[in-house]
Amino acid sequence: MWVVPTPIGNLEDMTYRAVRILGEADLILAEDTRTSSRLLEHYQIRNKMASHHKFNEHRAVERVADRIEAGEQVALISDAGTPGISDPGFLLVRTCVEKGLDVECLPGPTALIPALVNSGLPADRFVFEGFLPVKKGRQKRLSELAEEARSIIFYESPHRLVKLLGELVTFLGADRNCCVCRELSKLHEENLRGTAEQLLAHFGENPPRGEIVVVVQGTSKKKGEQLPPSEI
Ligand code: SAM
Repeated sequence: MWVVPTPIGNLEDMTYRAVRILGEADLILAEDTRTSSRLLEHYQIRNKMASHHKFNEHRAVERVADRIEAGEQVALISDAGTPGISDPGFLLVRTCVEKGLDVECLPGPTALIPALVNSGLPADRFVFEGFLPVKKGRQKRLSELAEEARSIIFYESPHRLVKLLGELVTFLGADRNCCVCRELSKLHEENLRGTAEQLLAHFGENPPRGEIVVVVQGTSKKKGEQLPPSEI
């Protein structure tokens, strides 16, 4: 099975290999066939698609694995970025691995890596937290992260960004350096760097739109260690 990353905004971020694999596959499994048909249309890929999303993946994995076992070339895509990264894909990959079937994920678009690199925060070691739980377990996770020394990456929806920044102030400290990356690879891309408190004040006054990644500096044992001056 091929796991094929697709653009997170800019259609030019599709790789040559991703286009070829999607064109050659016997079946493309897509999170949302309507969303993916626009991408396939753009690259003139006319191929069979079936839906594979979080509501049917539990039921579907065995059937899909049987088809792969029978020799079909299956390519898995999600609405944007890399399948399995805060998107359906993990269950199917795990099932294929358990059955000894080949799995190959192509290198390609995902939101967390450009966000981390754009942030200017240490990128040598990092943790990816994805979306925090909306309610239960959210505060526990945040308090555990207070002592995390590596850079921390969160996915967050625009309407919860201010809440998250407030929680970062509370649990990790007002002066913790962060970067809010919005609309990566799109026309209105913005990477705003500052302390949690500064970013909270900014987005409190300017409610954000679009897709968002938040990168947070890990805790530093050296007191007073600062990043370059904030941009807000
Ligand atoms: N599979 C995707 C990946 O590899 O990054 C992630 C899918 S997840 C359902 C969607 C979240 O990813 C968004 O809420 C946002 O946090 C992040 N994201 C996706 N595209 C983005 C973009 N263009 N700019 C900023 N964040 C993005």
